[in-house]
Amino acid sequence: MSAPAATVRPSVLTAALRGAGLCCPACGRGRLLRGYLAPVEACSVCGERYGHLRADDAPPWLTILLVGHIVMPLLLMVEQRYSPPLWVQATLWPAVTLLLTLLLLPRCKGVILGVLWATRAGDDRRDEG
Ligand SMILES: [Zn+2]
Repeated sequence: MSAPAATVRPSVLTAALRGAGLCCPACGRGRLLRGYLAPVEACSVCGERYGHLRADDAPPWLTILLVGHIVMPLLLMVEQRYSPPLWVQATLWPAVTLLLTLLLLPRCKGVILGVLWATRAGDDRRDEG
């Protein structure tokens, strides 16, 4: 019989930051995602399980929130300062939006998974200890 893990759980902020770095929220060394968005079943370093966590729509929601708050002020600033031709605006900002979305979506998923893990939300075993 194995002893229960008596390790100190990192804070929610630490777990979220580790998740943002696509690292295991528990140990900070193993990978959190396999492929682009799928969580690993368990950390290859510490064995913490992540396959049961369901982030649902939270990562896209957070990504949209962040990208919108980055792109819109930049778009308006460029328009006010430089008034570039419409084709420049119509080409530049969709590309920036797509790039930022692709870069931020896995990191936002990591943040959400880190918070879910640290708060034990979605963990059916949270009442056991
Ligand atoms: Zn780990």
